[in-house]
Amino acid sequence: MMNENLQIRTYKKTGHIEVICGSMFSGKTEELIRRIRRAEIAKVRVKVFKPKIDNRYSEFSIVSHNETSFPSEIIDNAEEILEKSFDTEVIGIDEAQFFENNLVDVCQMLADSGKRVIVAGLDQDYRAKPFEPMPQLLAVAEYITKIHAVCMICGAPANRTQRVTESSDRVLVGGGNHYEARCRLHHTFTKEEK
Ligand SMILES: [Zn+2]
Repeated sequence: MMNENLQIRTYKKTGHIEVICGSMFSGKTEELIRRIRRAEIAKVRVKVFKPKIDNRYSEFSIVSHNETSFPSEIIDNAEEILEKSFDTEVIGIDEAQFFENNLVDVCQMLADSGKRVIVAGLDQDYRAKPFEPMPQLLAVAEYITKIHAVCMICGAPANRTQRVTESSDRVLVGGGNHYEARCRLHHTFTKEEK
């Protein structure tokens, strides 16, 4: 039991949520790794998590398309982050779009308890539809960074992901082969996909 006086004297650091979003090949993971490394240099305890579905390059690290990597822990459910980060000050979460919607509550709880939460993920799926739970995270985050890839057709800044393999599954993990970054003008999909 904590008495009132003690509560007043206890200084509580304010936490927050940062979201890094964009299409595939926009450098989201690279940016997440950059921020985590800077926190590490500042001697802050960091931990990075990713969902089980992403086994693109490595089981034990998050790896960007340009092959920068940082050790990460694979988890099934966002709630595991709460148990595993009680002694951590900065928490990185990659491929956030593959978590369930409870990721939003988890991030809120972490930030409420004074932690810095950095979340990276796809904001749109290959049909350019908002990819949950990213829209909800974008709404509650203190800081948002939208980064762009380069359109493979015209070279313009691209914020959409074009699927170049035939499949209507929302999730098709397998790295770069199935996708290209495209601008609004050059992003296409067939009628059935709308
Ligand atoms: Zn284009």
